[in-house]
Amino acid sequence: MLVFKFGGASVKDANAVKNVATILQKFKGKKIAVVISAMGKTTNALERLTDAFFYKKEGTQVILEEIKNYHFSIANDLFGNKQHPFYNELENTFVELQWAIEDEPTHSYDHEYDQIVSMGELISTKIVSAYLNHVSINNKWLDVRGIIQTDNTYREGKINFELTENLVKEELIPLFSTTDIVITQGFLGGTSENFTTTLGREGSDYTAAVLSYCLNAENVTIWKDVPGVLNADPKWFANTVKIDELTYQDAIELTYYGATVIHPKTIKPLQNKNIPLFVRSFLNPDEEGTIIKDSNKKLSIPSFIFKVDQVLITIQPKDFSFIAEDNLSSIFNIFHIHGVKIHMMQLSAINFSLCTDNNPVKMENLLRDLQNDYKVLYNEDVELCTIRYYDQSTLDRVSVNKQILLEQKSRYTAQLVMKPS
Ligand code: ASP
Ligand code: MG
Repeated sequence: MLVFKFGGASVKDANAVKNVATILQKFKGKKIAVVISAMGKTTNALERLTDAFFYKKEGTQVILEEIKNYHFSIANDLFGNKQHPFYNELENTFVELQWAIEDEPTHSYDHEYDQIVSMGELISTKIVSAYLNHVSINNKWLDVRGIIQTDNTYREGKINFELTENLVKEELIPLFSTTDIVITQGFLGGTSENFTTTLGREGSDYTAAVLSYCLNAENVTIWKDVPGVLNADPKWFANTVKIDELTYQDAIELTYYGATVIHPKTIKPLQNKNIPLFVRSFLNPDEEGTIIKDSNKKLSIPSFIFKVDQVLITIQPKDFSFIAEDNLSSIFNIFHIHGVKIHMMQLSAINFSLCTDNNPVKMENLLRDLQNDYKVLYNEDVELCTIRYYDQSTLDRVSVNKQILLEQKSRYTAQLVMKPS
């Protein structure tokens, strides 16, 4: 059994969908669970729709029409003939979305968000599944909300693995006795009360990993618009190098600190069952890409990633007491209460410095609580650069024209907090 994941870019228009069909044909005879994201930038559009609906802003209908036209135009390019029965199904799905935004919001923002934003994946998978059947690549469409069970933390659903594993055995595996391909949604889950949840933005990779885990898949492939995992982000640096092989450990370190090629939550379920992960190009599907697996092959070249829009916070006890375990535990508790993740930290006698994402709402509450007992200094617009297997020339390269505010090196990893100078 294989698991494939196709992200938004790989289904962004009719040609992209046709390309998915071509890739699947190369694996004829294999059993494949295919996880698909919303088409192109649909999730962003649905976020705007949710916002307009919840806060009763102007333009709700306009946004909905845009989303609808986009999908109908892809369907037109794929099916042509208006008589195709699929148009009815697509129309009905949009009627559901229309209904969802006609009522008054009755739940929290996050709850309403999940019910609306999830439509992106439901629609994309319906289109892809119908198209594949249309070109005789037989497949079954599965509503993943009946399989991936989460708690009711909307927008960040926590998966109940035990329930999910059972449902995979009872509902998903049997589908493969009559089909080789099952098409399902990334990013979505369902609660025990049958509400829809989402797993956090860019969560489809995680879906693919969770299903691989539950299916005991042979391997999983994430099809991307890049040739594999690169040693740096080509957006910022020329001369990037594709990494052929990566350990789970290196992959988790790099993704946690901002490598966006795969979602950081993807690695754990795969590592736990020793399932290899391939990152390959959907544009050049015959090329090898990157394999992430259990091995002791360390990266042979330095890899580096930037996390931008960070804040550097320095905390000092007002009474000049040492930063020791008592102060630290109260500081960590405040971070925990406000859900603020620390990306890097450093201690001295009376200073505790750390780097975190700049989330204005969380930051305001956090600072208010910290300021009761501590003097707090902070520096906005800084960036955190993490270099795995660093060397001096890479350190020099990433810090050109930058002022280094904080620096930390362990055996394999260097981290720099920097500001443009
Ligand atoms: N469609 C969702 C998003 O854009 C999930 C994903 O693409 O992984 O965040
Ligand atoms: Mg995506």
